Amino acid sequence: MTEKENIELIMLGTGNAMAVKCYNTCFAVRKGKEYFLVDAGGGNGIFRQLKEARIPVEAIHEMFITHAHTDHILGMVWMVRKIAALIISGKYQGSCTIYCHKEAGEALVSICRLTLAEKFLKWIGERILIQEVEDGDKAEVLSMPVCFFDIGSTKMKQFGFQMEIEGKKLTCLGDEPFHGKTEAYVKGSDYLLCEAFCLDADKEIFKPYEKHHSTALDAGRLAQELSVKTLLLYHTEDSDLAERKAAYSREAKQNFEGKVYVPDDLEVIEIA
Ligand SMILES: [Zn+2]
Repeated sequence: MTEKENIELIMLGTGNAMAVKCYNTCFAVRKGKEYFLVDAGGGNGIFRQLKEARIPVEAIHEMFITHAHTDHILGMVWMVRKIAALIISGKYQGSCTIYCHKEAGEALVSICRLTLAEKFLKWIGERILIQEVEDGDKAEVLSMPVCFFDIGSTKMKQFGFQMEIEGKKLTCLGDEPFHGKTEAYVKGSDYLLCEAFCLDADKEIFKPYEKHHSTALDAGRLAQELSVKTLLLYHTEDSDLAERKAAYSREAKQNFEGKVYVPDDLEVIEIA
């Protein structure tokens, strides 16, 4: 009998772009010994987070970039460099596929061209493959069905995805508030990964709406309206991490009857 491969969500970062007390929002899905990395934060801090989470880069063969903002894509430049270095030293098996929309792919390649040595660059298109996806495109990631979709951003083109994990639907909305066009994906999700820039109670301090972000209260209301089972909040401000979990959960639960996670960096959530 083969051992059951449990599936986990490993939060590598949970902060917004300017957070300094936690890493920028990015995470990995683990199935058995393989990992799917979603965004990589804003720099080589991704290596520290991967190390702390005991995720070997050699075990990452599939990645996804939601959009080209600094706090999501720059860590990917470091991932490309590292994977290329591992390929060169014979320590990386097979190829790495980076799923992203056209503009994010172009941005990644451009930044890599400007900042990486030719010996690393030459592996892009050889064994580091940029897989362009369009709204509604489907793929198999970690041998599970995934559908990528446009989240309807008004700031910069951004994609989220839905992954089907043993009959459960995990939906990631990237780092922007819900847009009506994605309702079909969000509705009835077993897990909804959703940004909450700050508490509604602190909106005068952090001004989430000016920045096209929303609050824990908004996220809870949305999750309740769209029959989400479990809500996970991330991409937050970092003024009081010690209180964040309790305060954000409390606020989201004012309108939401399901389960709420407000993970800290490196927290692991069992999905299946
Ligand atoms: Zn962001």
